[in-house]
Amino acid sequence: ATATIGLTGLAVMGRNLARNIARNGHTIAVHNRTAAKMTALVEEFSDEAREGGGELVGSESLEDFVASIQQPRTILVMVKAGEPTDAVIDELVPLLDEGDIVVDAGNAHFTDTLRRQQALEEKGLHFVGMGVSGGEEGALNGPSIMVGGSEHAYENLGPVMESIAAVVDGTPCSTHVGPDGAGHFVKMVHNGIEYADMQLIAESFDLLRTVGGLEPAEIADVFDEWNRGDLESFLIEMTADVLRHTDAETGKPFVDVVLDQAEQKGTGRWTVQSALDLGVPITGIAEATFARSLSGHAEQRAAAREMFSTTSEEHTVEVDRDVFVDQVRAALYASKVVAYAQGFDQIAAGAEEHGWDIDLGSIATIWRGGCIIRAQFLDRIKEAYAEEPDLTTLLTTPYFADAVKDGVDAWRDVVATAAQAGVPIPAFASSLSYFDGLRRGRLPAALIQGLRDNFGAHTYQRVDRDGSFHTTWAGDRTEQEA
Ligand code: NDP
Repeated sequence: ATATIGLTGLAVMGRNLARNIARNGHTIAVHNRTAAKMTALVEEFSDEAREGGGELVGSESLEDFVASIQQPRTILVMVKAGEPTDAVIDELVPLLDEGDIVVDAGNAHFTDTLRRQQALEEKGLHFVGMGVSGGEEGALNGPSIMVGGSEHAYENLGPVMESIAAVVDGTPCSTHVGPDGAGHFVKMVHNGIEYADMQLIAESFDLLRTVGGLEPAEIADVFDEWNRGDLESFLIEMTADVLRHTDAETGKPFVDVVLDQAEQKGTGRWTVQSALDLGVPITGIAEATFARSLSGHAEQRAAAREMFSTTSEEHTVEVDRDVFVDQVRAALYASKVVAYAQGFDQIAAGAEEHGWDIDLGSIATIWRGGCIIRAQFLDRIKEAYAEEPDLTTLLTTPYFADAVKDGVDAWRDVVATAAQAGVPIPAFASSLSYFDGLRRGRLPAALIQGLRDNFGAHTYQRVDRDGSFHTTWAGDRTEQEA
């Protein structure tokens, strides 16, 4: 046995992660169900690995692979999420010894991670659910890594992960998030926030083009400019890149030749399902997920387009172009603050529900680099949690409160303008409503309580004294203490 760590599953993510680990000085055993991928990796990148002080040790069989790793073994599984992960774990387990650590680095649902952890623990093995973000490029050059599982497992796995993760201000973007499913839970919310971020960017683009009258290449310039301010982030930078791209075949802007139906692999849906269970209003992420679903309903869209053909044209709304661009920027920033505040609320609620002690500041810290939602303003979130670890909401911390206060008039103008123009902006509008919902002195929830008491005797509480009450709506309308 020569390798200090092993990795099975050498598709795009696993292959790049293995290269990253090897060239950071580790000897890594590599394996893939289809052996050709393993052979190709070893052939192409053994020199690169050696230059970094590491080595790739390839095996065709799972038995040889396991035998080539030093005990106690740490084995990363980077295969398709769901059944394939279970299949690989089932094959691996009989070959392992007590104390070995199995790490699922794929995009597992955190409840699967809880189940797998329990099953492996009963066999004397450690199981770690680990979220890896950054896509193909991140896996190779430095991802953001959200590690679950036990402290003991992190003691073995952590140093390797910290050596391959992205680094921001000298701090590696890898941390032990918490026990069992905590790592995959946080990765799930990360992906949910990614959905909201992209939807907000897409709505901004639609508004700038439809209402502002800018061409995609001009909008690319706007995004470049935004990337030099508070909005500086990987996705804003990438938006400029995509918008500037032209289709080689037609010469048209790339965005105009792509079918406008957004796909999803499920992590946004999981985030929303979990939020419903936890009772956390993550409206931005939910609207972003539904917006993708809506885009995919081609038949309904065609039917509605035909039925409302006379009213389906966007209404012309006169705006001052430069003013409008700046208003959209403010609306985007305020909505983004809401989306992240909601995501962090969900992590706090998940931690509470599952008994995980998650340091929210450390999550903001490891999301500053490597991952898809990496953004300048995560520094501000990190600082906010450093100042007040038990924050009620990020929205009211001084920096974000100022950002929202400064932007709120523009935010309202943008939402109103979009409604008049007939441009759908579900994420912008729901984020503004969320803000107003939190901010209002009184909500019409009082009326809902009245209705519930009227039809179902569900009782209500009063503003002026303690207790639960019921009004005899069908009788003499006296109030009784319930
Ligand atoms: P895929 O999700 O496409 O999975 C392909 C890999 O799974 C191959 O190595 C394949 O082996 C293996 N596999 C599938 N079924 C089985 C099985 N029954 N038994 C053994 N091996 C099997 O690969 P990706 O690299 O895209 O992703 C890997 C994991 O990382 C996934 O969980 C994904 O969700 C997650 N992830 C992906 C990101 C991305 O940007 N792609 C980003 C972050 C996480 P074979 O070659 O033999 O078919």
